[in-house]
Amino acid sequence: MMTRRIVDILKNGQPDESLTIQGWVRTKRDLKGFAFIEINDGSSLSNLQVVLNAEMPEYETLLKQLNTGASVEVDGVLVPSQGKGQRIELQAKTAKVYGEADPETYPLQKKRHSFEFLRTIGHLRSRTNSFGAVFRVRNACATAIHQFFQERGFLWVHTPIITRSDCEGAGELFTVTSFDLNKVPKTEQQDDVDYAQDFFGGKAYLTVSGQLEAEIMAMAFSNVYTFGPTFRAENSNTSRHLAEFWMVEPEMAFCDLHGDMDLAEAFLQHVFKYVMETCSEDMEFFNQRIDDSVLATAENIINNEFERITYTDAIALLEKAPVNFEYPVSWGLDLQSEHERYLAEQLFKKPAIVTDYPTGIKAFYMRLNDDQKTVRAMDILAPKIGEIIGGSQREERLDVLTQRMQSQGLNPDDLWWYLDLRRFGTVPHAGFGLGFERLVQFMTGMGNIRDVIPFPRTPLSADF
Ligand code: ATP
Ligand code: MG
Ligand code: MG
Ligand code: MG
Repeated sequence: MMTRRIVDILKNGQPDESLTIQGWVRTKRDLKGFAFIEINDGSSLSNLQVVLNAEMPEYETLLKQLNTGASVEVDGVLVPSQGKGQRIELQAKTAKVYGEADPETYPLQKKRHSFEFLRTIGHLRSRTNSFGAVFRVRNACATAIHQFFQERGFLWVHTPIITRSDCEGAGELFTVTSFDLNKVPKTEQQDDVDYAQDFFGGKAYLTVSGQLEAEIMAMAFSNVYTFGPTFRAENSNTSRHLAEFWMVEPEMAFCDLHGDMDLAEAFLQHVFKYVMETCSEDMEFFNQRIDDSVLATAENIINNEFERITYTDAIALLEKAPVNFEYPVSWGLDLQSEHERYLAEQLFKKPAIVTDYPTGIKAFYMRLNDDQKTVRAMDILAPKIGEIIGGSQREERLDVLTQRMQSQGLNPDDLWWYLDLRRFGTVPHAGFGLGFERLVQFMTGMGNIRDVIPFPRTPLSADF
């Protein structure tokens, strides 16, 4: 008999169907003569209710073994359910316990645990309702992202994880070293730093962004995107920064800042729409249990255009804001997350795209405007989060780009290949970087970025 996923049974299962399920026990209710066991296999938020009858083989033993957390396989027949909110349940014929979970020591008993506590048992937290919902939505977001770009003819390109370019010279890099543990005397293995070598004789880093390499590919394939892990050695303990996170970076040839903004907006709308359609139960759950604006936010994103405003106008609004900001607001300074949140959350009550930032606070590769003071940059700011996307039109003029590099203290020779893209068949082009975890945070209302990635890497990560 084929094992059926519980999500499918709850949706499509019919009375009298015989089937097998496999999963983990969420709860048990012993009603003398029969028992209800709630089983979850990760395919949906809802559990399937299994009914055990005293007449079935080994009933007493099963009842003792089937505690919260135990793994089990059940053969049975679907019957209509009398239970509230459930259409169908499984009348068990036989059941096989794979592994018990001792109620004295299994940490996930039937009660609500704080996210702080669950972070200390990162290897078990995916078995809770909240993390089940988060990782299903995360999966749906990833699917929607590929769908969006593939439908539009973008090529998915794989940029290097180990790279020789430090991208923007922005700092916060992890370096890659190599050493052969076999060559290190056993007594000195604690001190392995002495044996570490550069990457085959040169400097190498973990990538902080695949943008520059994606530009290479865009200059051949027109429209490309990356979707992969990125690393930043930021020792910050904010609720929005990780040392390892995923980025989505489209890059489009023959595209300006307006095309870039239009694409980013259509992109976010598509992802929200897809998740609302495919994960409605999980989204309802977030709205009920995590943040009661989750559904309204999704509707808002899907149905409304984002606010678009220049950095200069945003500064003017922030200077007039009836709020005491912790950090100063002044033309030429970067926006802090409190400013970003004020604009999106309080003022516009929807995502805002801020454009044309001062040259001095943005990277060398952004297209210089005619005013010589600002660049064609755009950041998308989301309520409750702040920046979720950073993008720009890229400088396509060789002379201006070389000059910008020099004035930022970068050596053009180090990026000779990047300049070659301007020497041979240069075109206006643009792209953006979306922090994948920030998107999942924004969508689910989860307050801490550590709770939307299965294995958060932070200064104090768990043991795996
Ligand atoms: P922030 O100002 O929030 O530190 P940033 O401007 O340094 O972000 P970018 O270099 O523009 O970040 O990277 C593009 C996107 O990647 C950001 O808009 C954000 O969504 C995401 N991002 C950046 N740093 C992190 C991080 N440490 N952890 C998770 N996501 C990040
Ligand atoms: Mg940063
Ligand atoms: Mg920023
Ligand atoms: Mg940025």
